[in-house]
Amino acid sequence: MTPHFTLAELTRSAKAASLRINNTPDAAALARLQTLAELLERIRAQLGVPITITSAYRCRELNAAVGGRTSSDHMQGEAADFVAPAFGTPYDICRALAPHVSTLGIGQLILESVGGKSWVHVSTRQPIKSVNRVITITDAGTEAGIQVVA
Ligand SMILES: [Zn+2]
Repeated sequence: MTPHFTLAELTRSAKAASLRINNTPDAAALARLQTLAELLERIRAQLGVPITITSAYRCRELNAAVGGRTSSDHMQGEAADFVAPAFGTPYDICRALAPHVSTLGIGQLILESVGGKSWVHVSTRQPIKSVNRVITITDAGTEAGIQVVA
């Protein structure tokens, strides 16, 4: 799709494979994934290191299987979860990206730290309320901005 991101990376899912779910996007989702891949290129360039996509597109069935929210941007092909160990922790990454969400075209930036795992969630779609654009989600709930997580 772009120099550093393939469609396979953006649709791959161990969960889908184990449950034999066909996680193939339709044409509309595919077009959104192209926009997402272009955003991921800009993020990669900003961080200056490779990034590892842990989950991007999820069809409705896969999203339900992983316990995703029914309104998840992942189902539209508008969101990706990633880590970049060569740069630092997901907290470090979010701190580095937060001042640049507008210039990079990040619609929403979330530091997610749930169930003992942390990752960065980015979406091409901007939430209706601007206070929700950069948030932290932990087992304790949702907070505005990038907060220190355990
Ligand atoms: Zn996500």
